[in-house]
Order: sequence, then C-alpha cells, then structure tokens
Amino acid sequence: MKTIICNQKMYLTKDEAKVLKKEYDEIDFNGVEFVVCPSYVNFNVFDGYTLGAQNCFYEDRGAYTGEVSAYDLSLRNIKYSIIGHSERRKYDTDEIVNLKVKACLKHTITPIICIGETRLENEMMKTSEVLKRQITKALKDITLDKLDEIIIAYEPVHKIGSGSSLTREEIEDTASYIRKVLEELKIDNYKLLYGGSVNKENIEEISTDMIDGYLLGGASVKKEELKNIVKCIK
Ligand code: 13P
Repeated sequence: MKTIICNQKMYLTKDEAKVLKKEYDEIDFNGVEFVVCPSYVNFNVFDGYTLGAQNCFYEDRGAYTGEVSAYDLSLRNIKYSIIGHSERRKYDTDEIVNLKVKACLKHTITPIICIGETRLENEMMKTSEVLKRQITKALKDITLDKLDEIIIAYEPVHKIGSGSSLTREEIEDTASYIRKVLEELKIDNYKLLYGGSVNKENIEEISTDMIDGYLLGGASVKKEELKNIVKCIK
C-alpha cells in the first residue's frame, strides 16, 4: 500500500481548511495510507484523519516561546511529524534535525525526515554527498526498536513548487542510492517517499516501485489534483 502525505504548509485559512476537509471526505482513500499535515491551528478541522505536524520541538517542556513539543503533539494523538523540511532547514541544522527525530521516536511519533539537495548542489554533482550527510546526521545515535518506523522523504529543493518533478529514472537512481545508505546504517523499517511538484499530470509517468509514496505540497490542497493522484497510485 502506498502512502500519501499532504503537507498543507501555511496555505489555508480555517474556513478554507473546512471546505477542503469536505472535499477530502469525497475522495476514496481506500487502498492508500493517507496522512494530513495541516498547520497547528487547523488540526481539529481534519478530525477523523491520520494527522501529522509540519514541525515539532525536541524539548518536552520549558521556556521555548512559540514552539510545540513532540510530547504535546503525541498527547493530541498526532502520529507523524515532518522534520527538516527544506523550508525550515535555515533554522534547523542537521544536529537539530537529529534531536527532533529522537524526540519524535521517544513519543511514538513517526518522523518524516526530509532530505534533498539544492539546485547548486545538484549542479555541482554533490547530491549523493548531501543526501548521505543529511541521512547519517539525522539518524545519529539512533537505534530503532522493532515498532519504530521512520519515513524518509526525498525532496530535491530545486523541484519543490517548480511545477516539474524529477523524471522517473532520476527518482529511481536516487532512491536506490538512499536505500543503500540506509542499508549501510542497518535501518530497515522505513518508508521512502518522493516529493517535489508531484501532480495529476506527472504521477503516472513518475510512478515506480522504488518509492513507497509521495509527499505532496501544492497538490494537497486541490481536490482534483489529490483525487487523481490517489486514483493513479492505488
Ligand atoms: P510541492 O508539491 O508544492 O512542490 O511541494 C512539495 C513539498 O514541499 C512537500 O513537503
């Protein structure tokens, strides 16, 4: 079964989220694992769906103005949290990403660890080096229990919001490299997702068994896009 995770970013007002929730309700998600990551203030709009946060903080409690801890998310029955999205990596170093992954696992939240190279790194042929560093540092000093699961979301930064995804061959090549790195780290209970301008026009073309699902941005807040993507990957 493939996984679809909707990263709604900061796209929606509460009223817009309520309209979208009704549209989600009309889509047949049977046969896919579906996770919604709304903004914090819109969590309750998506009651009944499996929920993820778009970020979390690693300390359980304390004087950390503006932060929301993985611990508090777990108390609200949030099952997933995106960690280290490229739109946050200017605040979240590899070390902070590592602390957040640990906090998620401690509170049985599945971390969705985002990795991906920038355009410049891609042009300088540094993709493998960057991905290996991001994976290794995110998982530093972590031993997964049998019940723990992690999700690695490969999102090339230069493809996010660009309107064009990587090609299937490019996704497969990188996916096989990422799987090799994870094997070297003896990590086997993970899912590997692709994200970066996935839409209803390209989903069929990029579909591959090398990928366990997709992390959607723009398409996650458009009913027709999402409906067609879900239909295609079932
Ligand atoms: P787009 O699908 O809008 O390119 O965004 C991808 C993304 O950043 C999901 O986390």
